[in-house]
Amino acid sequence: MEDKIYVIGHKNPEPDSICSAIVLAGLKGYVPARAGEVNADTLFILNRFNAVLPEKIENAEAKKLFLVDHNEISQMVDGGDKAELIGIIDHHKINLSYGLPIFIHTEPLGATATVVAKLFWNEIIKDKSYCGLLLSAILTDTVVFRSVTTTEEDREMAKKLAEIAGIADMEEFGIEIKKQNATLKGKDIAVIAGSDMKIFDFNGKKIAIGQVEIVDPDEIEERRLELLDCLRKTKEENNYELAAFMATDIIKEATELLFVGDPAIIEKAFAKKPENNSVYLEGVMSRKKQIVPELERAFTN
Ligand code: MN
Repeated sequence: MEDKIYVIGHKNPEPDSICSAIVLAGLKGYVPARAGEVNADTLFILNRFNAVLPEKIENAEAKKLFLVDHNEISQMVDGGDKAELIGIIDHHKINLSYGLPIFIHTEPLGATATVVAKLFWNEIIKDKSYCGLLLSAILTDTVVFRSVTTTEEDREMAKKLAEIAGIADMEEFGIEIKKQNATLKGKDIAVIAGSDMKIFDFNGKKIAIGQVEIVDPDEIEERRLELLDCLRKTKEENNYELAAFMATDIIKEATELLFVGDPAIIEKAFAKKPENNSVYLEGVMSRKKQIVPELERAFTN
C-alpha cells in the first residue's frame, strides 16, 4: 500500500470534482487526482485561479483514496474497489458498503464544494485561489443557481467566497464559465448525442438520456436531424425503449427534449404533445429531478 493519499472525484470529472479535490488535498497535505478527462470549463477555472490540473490515476488498486463528489463503485476510478478508502465528502445519496469505519460527510447541498467550504471555512478564507475554485464549482454544479438542487446555503456560501476571491458579478462569471463548454460547433454529432449519456432501467425497460447545456438554441436547430439519426441508431443497437436527448438552454432555463420512441409516453410524462420527435419544457433543467421521475412514472403506470 502506498503512503500517499489521493483526493479524487468521479470518472466524468466536472469542476465540482476537480476543484473540491484540489482544495481538500491542499489543506490536508494529500495529493489531488482525477479519474478522467476534463472539459473546457474546468481548464478555464484552473487557469483563472492559478491551479494545476490534478494528475490522472489510471488504476487505483492498492492506493489510498479520499473520495469527493461521489461514493458509488460504478462511478469510481478503475481499481477503486481494490483501493483503501480514507474518507468521503459528497452531496449525493450514499450507495456504498465498506468494511471499515471511515470518515463520511455528506449534505444535501448543490455542490460538494459548498460542503468543503463549510467544513474548512477558517482555513480556506486565507487562500484567495481556494475560494475562487470552490466558488466556480458551486456556480457550475448549480448551473449558476438555476438548478433545482440549489439551496440557500449554496447561495450564501457562494456570496462569501466571491467576496474573498474578488468576483464582483457571480452571474456574469458563472455564465462565462458555462459558455466554455456550451458550444456544439465543430463537435462530432455522435459525441454530442452521447454527451453525458445515462442509462436507466424502468422495470426491465431500458431508456437512455443524454444532456448538453447550450446558450444558443440555433446550435440545436442546425443539427436536429443528425441528432435524431444518432438517437435512432443508439435506440436500435441497444434495444432501448426510448433514446432521448436534453438540450438545456441555461439562459432561458428550459429544455428541448429530442427523442426517438413512443410519443404517447412523452405526452403522458410531461402533459404536453410532442411534435417532430421533440417537446419543449419550460423551467426544466435537471435530468435527475425533472425528467427521470416523470418518465419512470409514465413507463411504469
Ligand atoms: Mn457535484
